[in-house]
Amino acid sequence: MPTPLITTRDLSKTYELGGFVVQALRGVSLDIYAGEFVAVMGPSGSGKSTFMNLLGCLDTPTSGEYLLAGERISGLDSDALAGIRNRRIGFVFQSFNLLPRTSALENIALPLLYCGVPAEARNRRAAASLAEVGLADRGHHHPAQLSGGQQQRVAIARALVNEPVLILADEPTGALDTLTSCEVMALLQQLNARGMTVILVTHEHDIAEFAKRVVTFRDGRVVEDRAVEKPRDAAALAIELRAEQPA
Ligand code: ADP
Repeated sequence: MPTPLITTRDLSKTYELGGFVVQALRGVSLDIYAGEFVAVMGPSGSGKSTFMNLLGCLDTPTSGEYLLAGERISGLDSDALAGIRNRRIGFVFQSFNLLPRTSALENIALPLLYCGVPAEARNRRAAASLAEVGLADRGHHHPAQLSGGQQQRVAIARALVNEPVLILADEPTGALDTLTSCEVMALLQQLNARGMTVILVTHEHDIAEFAKRVVTFRDGRVVEDRAVEKPRDAAALAIELRAEQPA
């Protein structure tokens, strides 16, 4: 068995707020291997965001262990966490989080700017990333000139530009209609088929069934962890949905 890309052991997070203690995570132990496509589900307040924030090095656990590609993340200081976040993890959000007065290419190049990559290499890599999500001809468009689905593709291109080991997507289809959601999921499935590890939070069962594994949280614990026997094929479903649309 190879080393897992992600290992968590008894990962816990406690928040203290105005004298109240909230146990957001209560001992989560999971292994996720390179090349997996995992959907994280669970009701509101079950600890999904807390877990994703820890995986994304946006927060530190109260106790427990987190290893990324064999490296111990729990215990690192905030500078070291920022370095791992910028170089190794690609983030995709429900609301795209693109800068409005900035072209698609410039948005995609931003993470490279933070890493000190020179301009020429930034432009080249941003263009390659945009081509990878099928939008090579939209590089100079601003977000407002793109559809929601196109904006999410640009956001995925931005997540890919640093060649991360992992994509963390938080409700990436939450703001999209059914067909556009399918197209975005088709892109994530395509990236996963090429070897990218994808972890996404969703509260929609239909979306979770595009993944290969579904991990369900409740009250800060994993209550179910199952393989999806036959993940839905998002590209095929998108073709069906397009055919059903009125011309
Ligand atoms: P989910 O993403 O599944 O909705 P969260 O991880 O956001 O769940 O929240 C888990 C629990 O932790 C909830 O009870 C929530 O109110 C609490 N919580 C989350 N973030 C904070 C915070 N920054 N301060 C205090 N409590 C928090």
